[in-house]
Amino acid sequence: MTGPLSVCVYCGSIEGLPERYLRLAADVGSQIAARGWQLVSGGGKAAMMGVLGAAARAGGARTTGVIPQALVDLEWADHDSDELLIVETMRERKALMEAHADAFIALPGGVGTCEELFEVWTAGYLRMHSKPVVLLDPDGHYAGLLEWVRGLGERGFVRPEAIERLVVATDVSAALDACAKPVDS
Ligand code: AMP
Repeated sequence: MTGPLSVCVYCGSIEGLPERYLRLAADVGSQIAARGWQLVSGGGKAAMMGVLGAAARAGGARTTGVIPQALVDLEWADHDSDELLIVETMRERKALMEAHADAFIALPGGVGTCEELFEVWTAGYLRMHSKPVVLLDPDGHYAGLLEWVRGLGERGFVRPEAIERLVVATDVSAALDACAKPVDS
């Protein structure tokens, strides 16, 4: 890899979320910028996605957004992005976000965030890419999901190395450190 690290961040897009989640998204954007890195996101201005991109740019980071045409109005396409890529389908969106990023972080989010996380995590443990995949969960938002995944492991549906492929962090700085750390092969 050459040049600044590009971090793809997945997060909640629904308006009216508790303030702490917006602060977390802003903190992630600011700290990506403080490290001299770049942001790749879903290219929307709604909720956490919006504050994430704005904070990254305010700190001097370059931001790339990838958004399907059908969501341009729904998620208020982030026309302030340094680069805004408008695609047709959700699959193209995820593929371009993955191609543009060196590492992935999922913040608290809903089913869309989970869908994005599971795709990039499964591709990682199937060795289709070797980029870090990080779940940033400061307040236990994902505790139930993680417990369910551990249960899958106990019942033999998921190998331990697949579970370990997902780095779980509880603070922003640890999550970003994990983005810069090569994945054990
Ligand atoms: P949510 O976590 O449900 O608020 O969604 C977070 C983001 O994930 C939003 O930008 C959604 O448009 C996006 N999203 C939801 N499903 C998909 C999908 N299948 N592919 C790509 N992005 C998605």
